Amino acid sequence: MTASLPAVLEHLRSIQFFMEMRDENPFKIRAFRAAREELSSLKDEQLNQFIKENRLTEIKGVGKGIAAVISEFWQTSTSTDFRNIIGDWPLSLLELDELSGLAPKRIRGVYEQLGISSLAELEYACLENRLVELPGFGQKTQEKLLKEIENLKARRGKVLLCDAIDETREFRSRLPKDTPFEEVGDLGMRHEVIETLEFLVEDKKSFEAKHLEKLGLKKSPSTRQVSLKTKHGHSLKFIHVAKASFPIHRVFLTSSPEHWHSLESAARKKTLLLTANELKKSDRLLKIESEQELYAELGIVYHPPEAREYAAEKSFEFVSLESLKGCFHAHSTYSDGSDSLKNMLDAAKAKGWDYFGISEHSQTAFYARGLKDADLQKQWKEIDQYNKKSAPFRVLKGVESDILKEGELDYPDKILKEFDFVIASIHQRYGLKEMTDRILAAVRNPYSSMIGHISGRLLLGREPYRLNYEAIIREAIATHTVIELNCNPHRLDMDWRYLRQACEAGLLISINPDAHSVEGLDDLEFGVWMARKALVAPSQIINTWPLKKLLELFSKQREKKAA
Ligand SMILES: [Zn+2]
Ligand SMILES: [Zn+2]
Repeated sequence: MTASLPAVLEHLRSIQFFMEMRDENPFKIRAFRAAREELSSLKDEQLNQFIKENRLTEIKGVGKGIAAVISEFWQTSTSTDFRNIIGDWPLSLLELDELSGLAPKRIRGVYEQLGISSLAELEYACLENRLVELPGFGQKTQEKLLKEIENLKARRGKVLLCDAIDETREFRSRLPKDTPFEEVGDLGMRHEVIETLEFLVEDKKSFEAKHLEKLGLKKSPSTRQVSLKTKHGHSLKFIHVAKASFPIHRVFLTSSPEHWHSLESAARKKTLLLTANELKKSDRLLKIESEQELYAELGIVYHPPEAREYAAEKSFEFVSLESLKGCFHAHSTYSDGSDSLKNMLDAAKAKGWDYFGISEHSQTAFYARGLKDADLQKQWKEIDQYNKKSAPFRVLKGVESDILKEGELDYPDKILKEFDFVIASIHQRYGLKEMTDRILAAVRNPYSSMIGHISGRLLLGREPYRLNYEAIIREAIATHTVIELNCNPHRLDMDWRYLRQACEAGLLISINPDAHSVEGLDDLEFGVWMARKALVAPSQIINTWPLKKLLELFSKQREKKAA
């Protein structure tokens, strides 16, 4: 950081914030606030001058203490006062100060009770209903915070895939049917995080003239450069192309360079010429009316837009939502879900699945109402009764067990062995250096069937922890332990970029919704997109398997690892 007036103001704000969190002397806190107000009316050069001439205390509201902080910060980009007041708290707590609905003392509450230290973690906790039962919070506050977080995120410029898709859906619903209007770029390719929502249209001028208002978009008349913003504040761009070129150009705009080059060379092999707008044989233009037609003409299996990351495969079977025979990882009101067990099971059954694996949080996860032995007995009874009535549909008894400090699972073996499957996940103590060791220990545990949200990342929020993926994947393959592809659009974890190589080497994955409500089951689609990106063969995705084969896998894992 270079020293500047805004940096100084921000530094003073941080000190003030942490003083408030620690409930320091109110006079001291007020002094910081007053000093910031005075300083903010200065110019950079003026402040520089005051510092150089050692005259900071001549500024109204700046006493000796604050002057010392400013001087030290100017030279070292930090200060003793700051280090003392922040102690071992994470700096990311400051993000929470941007929420008007959350005073510093309450931030301390969510940090100490739920371990929440950033905006993304708070958002995730709200989505998992963690604030509902926290003293001083509740359903209403939770909803308000979620709204505010959404606005803050929009102002930061990037948008999650799920939010971009919601906006796209809304646009579509407002356009006349069969208006040419297709997502391209990162959105078209279903990237996890998107900077600009890009759409391909036929004639930009007439499209904008006809539909802009309908879409709730406004061009600012003062600027020549067209930059559109959606009502949620996301950047948006229209790209246009002539009708005849529409399908080919869409493929072009949803292909990675590697994928596009593979299409060009496939064309050359058939003595065709492919450009971003057309396909030609000698000098004759070939009529291409859909993206499917283009792939067919090139003699290549159709790759949907999200699967255009790698060079095209001549033939390949892509996983689809319909090919899933069931899924694992769902929570009900037994732990931190918002729908009852019965509603969750009914919804799963209504999807036409053959099986459904419920997995509440385990006992240590107090913040998520993790299940004690007695709750488990109660839930199992309810599941047994449900299964009796609903055969051949089968509910599998699972758990999302916390991975404890040294990699142990969260129940004694005599309970673990009663589950049909166990998902082992890290939920606490993210900072530990030996994350890889903890996960490796969990992989080796005879009772772990799969590893949940392996990197802990929250998109646009929490960085993934650093892991030795190679070692973990190798061990998972050797022990037949499954790695989850978590479909929650805030996670999408394990990152698809690791999946292709790993699955080709034999890794098994499971496309898991981590649903906390009935609607959460629909998140599976995000996982299907990620698996297609990575060209994962359906045979490596265990929830495309029939029940019998699955149960065999789970018992094989236990035998193999116990040996
Ligand atoms: Zn989890
Ligand atoms: Zn979960």
